[in-house]
Amino acid sequence: MTTIDLPLVQDCSVTECSYNNNGCAAGAVTIGYGRTCSTFVPLSVRGGLERKSPVVGACQKADCSFNTNLECTASAIRVGSTSADCLTYQAR
Ligand code: SF4
Repeated sequence: MTTIDLPLVQDCSVTECSYNNNGCAAGAVTIGYGRTCSTFVPLSVRGGLERKSPVVGACQKADCSFNTNLECTASAIRVGSTSADCLTYQAR
């Protein structure tokens, strides 16, 4: 799998994250073992890239049906507000 094949973060509604600029602007995110995106950070500065095409670089949710070897095999994911959950998660 090349980085081009990595799943897109299609949508993120976590506006309090420093990487959120009308959607996720990070180059890549890590979805954590807990219920949150591990890239989430609520700083007073804004971050990310001007050209948005964020991908899932790694995912620690081994119990998700899209997870193989701690990588996401979904075509795209959505991340939701409050706890920055991966909304595409599906239990095995
Ligand atoms: S869909 Fe599953 S494997 Fe992909 S990022 Fe979300 S929790 Fe991880």
